[in-house]
Amino acid sequence: MANSPIWRPFSQMKTAPAPLEVLRGQGAWLELADGRKILDCISSWWVTIHGHGHPLLAKALYQQAQQLEQVIFAGFTHAPAETLAARLIQTLGGGRLFFSDNGSTAVEVALKIAYQYWQNLGQTQRHSFICFEGGYHGDTFGAMAIAKTSSWWQRYHQLLFDTDPVAYPALGDQVDPEQLEASCLNQVEALLAQQRHAAIIIEPLVQGAGGMRFCRPVFLQRLAELARSYQTLLIYDEVMTGFGRTGELFACQKSHTSPDLLCLSKGLSGGCLPLAVTIATEQIYQAFWHDDPNQAFYHGHSYTGNPLACATGVASLEMLTANPHCYQQLEAWHWQFYHQYLTDHPDLSNFRVCGTIAAMEVTARSSTPGYFHHLAAPLKAEFLAAGFLLRPLGNTIYIMPPYCIGQEELGSIYAAIAQVVSKVVAEAS
Ligand code: PMP
Repeated sequence: MANSPIWRPFSQMKTAPAPLEVLRGQGAWLELADGRKILDCISSWWVTIHGHGHPLLAKALYQQAQQLEQVIFAGFTHAPAETLAARLIQTLGGGRLFFSDNGSTAVEVALKIAYQYWQNLGQTQRHSFICFEGGYHGDTFGAMAIAKTSSWWQRYHQLLFDTDPVAYPALGDQVDPEQLEASCLNQVEALLAQQRHAAIIIEPLVQGAGGMRFCRPVFLQRLAELARSYQTLLIYDEVMTGFGRTGELFACQKSHTSPDLLCLSKGLSGGCLPLAVTIATEQIYQAFWHDDPNQAFYHGHSYTGNPLACATGVASLEMLTANPHCYQQLEAWHWQFYHQYLTDHPDLSNFRVCGTIAAMEVTARSSTPGYFHHLAAPLKAEFLAAGFLLRPLGNTIYIMPPYCIGQEELGSIYAAIAQVVSKVVAEAS
């Protein structure tokens, strides 16, 4: 692998450790070419919700591959796309669904639709977006523009369009949520009053890559009320929170709120293939419904609505609907193992759980806080050496397991965190 021509994602190629070759995946486990077995504690970048090598997903894929592997999606359709769309819309209670292939693009589509919605209605002053500090929405230009407080995107600032990031009311040990939410909502309201925003965009309940920062459902309810009262669109980026991650099928359902645009990807195909959707309300869709071709939404990619990805999406949704217990039971297990292994750990704080996701901070100070915290790399390396795929976001350790993980397997992650954190902190001090 040393001479591999591959330029890898999110990596400084000069200093990144050589990638590990994976031979196969089964359930929550990855089998490496060197014979090691690694427990995939983060569902391989949060996508393999049912674990690896699931026979029902493999069957759906094989059957669809024999029937139709790909077809142009302009002017043509097929059963897997229609079935997946109908079931999602039924589950979410209405709307129109636009297919794309990854989370960033689902977000780009939502931004473009929101922007053009107002143009189509003749309200051309609505060209900015309200977003949240610490948000992550992908790495394409629109997605970077609505997350421009992130250190990753500083390089590109000159190229990013106008957005207004506001403070995010992240829950924490020392935080008064009421006060924090009120101050965030005041900032939002002051911006909304200017009537120049096409939409507000947020990762509902959990900011993922920004450090697994949770907010309360009531914050989303107040945000949704504000958006309505100032007639600005609300976009939920549920690319990560969708499909059971927060303990309910969707964070919008868990928070009893209903966005105007909803972005889904990652778990959508059951973690098998790239697939994404952006779902708009009927009201938005109607603003594009016109005799004038200029009112149409011009977007689409070569693999839009790929039949293989849609077929695994249908199979995955069937599995989630048949057995919601698989994602509902994890919250109790997280707390159980927190109490068993981590409650009194001197180097950990701010433990939190939202459905299947658990997170905590390593308390050691660093001269490079945030994503580049000095403990992130040694923690990751030690976890791997111990047989666990965990990728701390700076000093935030999080667990986002596939739903098929066994109770004992989950417990073993907590035992490893307790040991590895003590070792790494001791060695660093
Ligand atoms: N939105 C959120 C909330 C995400 O977590 C991610 C990926 N981590 C994206 C968008 C981008 O998705 P993708 O990597 O598939 O483009």
